Formats: sequence, C-alpha cells, structure tokens
Amino acid sequence: SSTTTTTTKAKLERIGAHSHIRHGLGLNDLLEPLPNSTLIGQHKARRAMGIVAHMIKTSPMGGRSVLLAGPPSTGKTALAMALSQELEKTSQAAMTSRSGRPIAPSGTGQSKAPFTSLSAPQVFSLEMSATEVLTQSIRQSMGVQIEEETEIICGEVVELQMDTTLNTNNNGGKYSKTGRLTLCTTEMETVYDLGTKMMEMLRKEKVSAGDVIQIDKGSGKISKLGRSFSRSRDYDAVGSTTNFVQCPEGELQQRKVVQHVVTLHEIDVINSRQQGFLALFAGDTGEIKAEIRSQIDAKVAEWREEGRATLVPGVLFIDEVHMLDMECFSFLNRALEGELAPICILATNRGMATIRGTTYKSPHGIPLDLLDRLMIIPTEPYTAEELRQILKIRCTEEEVEMTPEALELLTRIAHETNSLRYAMQMIMTASLRSRKRNKAASMVELKDVQHVYKLFVDVQRSTKFIMEYQNDFLFNELNSDGNREE
Ligand code: ADP
Repeated sequence: SSTTTTTTKAKLERIGAHSHIRHGLGLNDLLEPLPNSTLIGQHKARRAMGIVAHMIKTSPMGGRSVLLAGPPSTGKTALAMALSQELEKTSQAAMTSRSGRPIAPSGTGQSKAPFTSLSAPQVFSLEMSATEVLTQSIRQSMGVQIEEETEIICGEVVELQMDTTLNTNNNGGKYSKTGRLTLCTTEMETVYDLGTKMMEMLRKEKVSAGDVIQIDKGSGKISKLGRSFSRSRDYDAVGSTTNFVQCPEGELQQRKVVQHVVTLHEIDVINSRQQGFLALFAGDTGEIKAEIRSQIDAKVAEWREEGRATLVPGVLFIDEVHMLDMECFSFLNRALEGELAPICILATNRGMATIRGTTYKSPHGIPLDLLDRLMIIPTEPYTAEELRQILKIRCTEEEVEMTPEALELLTRIAHETNSLRYAMQMIMTASLRSRKRNKAASMVELKDVQHVYKLFVDVQRSTKFIMEYQNDFLFNELNSDGNREE
C-alpha cells in the first residue's frame, strides 16, 4: 500500500544481485587489481575508485562526489558497493576505544559503513516529497558509532555446582535449580551464588569447568570465549574446532566498551513518537519532522563532543541520476556540503540530456554547478572473457552448477544482448528448469539455457517484437486521426 515499502524491497533485491561482491575493490596497496578478486575487469574504474577511497580515508572529501558514467550492466552499482566495503575496512581498523578501555569481544560491536542504493525514479513517490526521500536516504547512509561502557565479569570456570531443591510453592516446576559458580583469573578466585535464570543460561551454553566465559552484568548475557589452555591437557577428546584461550589476568570484574553502529535515519525513526521503532521493520516511515532531525543532530553532536560517538560516513548510491529534477539537484548540491553528508555516488548512462524540470540541455542531464563538484569515472563494456568470469562467480554464489557448454551459451547471450543482468537472471530460471526436467539433475545443461532463452526475452528482442506488431496495435486502438476510438 505504500511506496516506501516498495522502495525498501527494491533495494533489497538490488543488493542481493551483488552478494558475491564481498571484499571491496580488490586492489593491492599500489592500487593494482588483485588476481583473486570477486570484482572482475573494469581495471581503470576500480583504480579510480581506489583513489577516491584513499581520499576519503585520509581527509574528508569536502562535499565532493563521484559520477559513474557508462552503459547499463557495467558494474556501476557493484563498484559503489565495493567502495562502501573499503570504508568498512578502515572504520574497523580504527576501532580503538576512545576512552582507552578495552573493547569487549562481543559480536554486537561490529562497525559497518552503511550502504544505501536507490534509483532516481524512486525519489518521486506519492507519499513523500522528493526532498524527504532524499533526506531519508542521506541519513540512512550516515552511521553513528556509539560506545557504551558496561561492566562485565570475565574468568575461567573452576567449578559449577548445581543445587536442586524441591519447590514448596508450586509455580515454576517441581524443582528449582540454583547453584554456585567459581570463577578465577590468574590472580584471584571468587564464588558467585546464582539464581535459576543464570543456571539455565549456563546449561544452555553448555558451560563446564575449564571454559573461559564472559558475563555482561547489565544484560546478564553469557558468552563462552573458549577453553582455557591450562585445561587443554585434561581433555583429550576435544574437537578440532575448540578454541583455546588464556586464563584472564587481573580482576574478575572489568569495565569494557561495547560499540554499536546505527544510522541517523534509524535514530530519527526511533525518536519520532508518531512512528515508533516498528516502522523500521515495515520500511514505512512516512515523513519525519524537521524538528526531530535537528534534535537528533544536536544530540549526536553532544555525544561526539563527549567522545561517546563517532560518525561513520557510508555511501549513498543514486542510479539513473538524469531522472532527478532541478529541485532534487539543488537540494543534493546543498545537502552534500553539510557535515553530516555521506559519500555520494551518482550513476548515469546518458550523454547530453535535458535537465528534468527545465528546457536546458546539460552533460548527463546534470546541472553544471553540481557537475562541477563531481569526479567522473567512466565504466566500459565487458569483454566476453570478463562476462564469463562474472557469470561463473554468480553460479557459485547461487549454488548452481553448469556444464561448460551452458556457461558458454550464457556468456554469448550476455555479450550479444549487451545485458549482463539478463544473463544473470537466466542462471536461476535455467536451474529451476533443469530440476523440473529431472529431479536428480545436478547440472544445468545447454538445453536448459536454450529453453529459458526462448521463454524470457531480453529488452532488444522484446522491443523488436513490439515494433513489428506496433502497426497492428495502432490499428486496433486508434482511428485514422490518431484518436482513441470510442
Ligand atoms: P550497473 O549499475 O552499471 O547497471 P550493475 O553493477 O548492476 O551494473 O551490474 C550488473 C550485475 O553484474 C550485478 O549483479 C553486479 O554485481 C555484476 N557485476 C557487474 N560488474 C561486475 C564486476 N566487475 N565483477 C563482478 N560482478 C560484476
């Protein structure tokens, strides 16, 4: 029922198509392409993006943005995503706590530079103004890394004793299990009395003597860090996956720092009383009031001053940017100057085009003042060999096995239709067809690809088909004056 929901869905699908891109731009320190990268070819553009990544890491880009200009299916979205992964690498490297306290080894503190992808036509919805959609996308691409200090207990389990007592009051089962946990570090040992809940958690985590565990005092969450080296000789039947760790030193109780990354947009939604955080899951957030945003900005600035938060700029990718209109362009131009601006990557496949909402023509359909702050990187069509490699990687990603002949045909189709995306969609359809044909079939064969090629047409064939029949369509619908017949 809402346009925002579709926006979110479209975004998920688009990112799914790039799930094989995991390790950034695939360049070494000299910006040379690595041989085993999941990004194939496009060397010049990747090097250029590598320089952009370097600029972002060493100094703020100062409102500069990138325009990727090239034909469809030449990896513009893939490159933008790879860049955001590069930024992720730095923010992870810079993950030392500002307060100098150790960072708790919990899975929750992973730093992530957010990546938002949107196609310019999605900006125009019935529910929100175009500038609101742009503002939300910009704030979705800005991460805030928040540090929280928590008290934890970390030690090696010396002994775990369980007391089972008959329950006198009848709620909560027949027996209640309480117990005592003895933990030690290299310097001290303490016995803790534990209630039923904690005992249950220890049992669930299968904690036993010799484990090194961490208990978050705030949430009561227990995590097993590994088995103590000191006990490694006592047990000969440990699996190869057992992780051995040193017995902790010093105090049992420590203060540690946990880091979370949330986006500005998430903070906006959670704090907008009208929407509530559930809107985040529905993707249907509606317009957010300007005063909420300025309150959040002030709060974040405060946190930053206190050293409790750091900004993690992510990447906002806007495809088919020539579809934006004059109002959007001037809005973007201003927004990108602000301090809370992500790295903006625009993409287009147009040469000279009319700027929407005006009668002026301009390169890529972008007004000159915005063009002026863009670094333009061209992307080139892939060779057949590069297409084959990309399709092969996608087969692995989708867990589809294909005979060499079938892959060869798919490569030719990608090459001749000029649409890598079309060929990529055929991987799944051909695989479904091969399983329909023969449940036991493990490989997609030539005939499966041929079959789906006939069923699903590419854009070229589909337009040709429509052109051929256009006269009939016209004859059916319009009378000789070109008006619709009543
Ligand atoms: P564009 O944005 O230029 O239209 P995409 O980035 O959407 O093109 O590319 C189409 C598909 O091909 C995507 O699934 C993308 O992940 C994949 N792809 C494109 N270029 C490469 C590349 N150099 N290496 C690996 N995969 C690629």
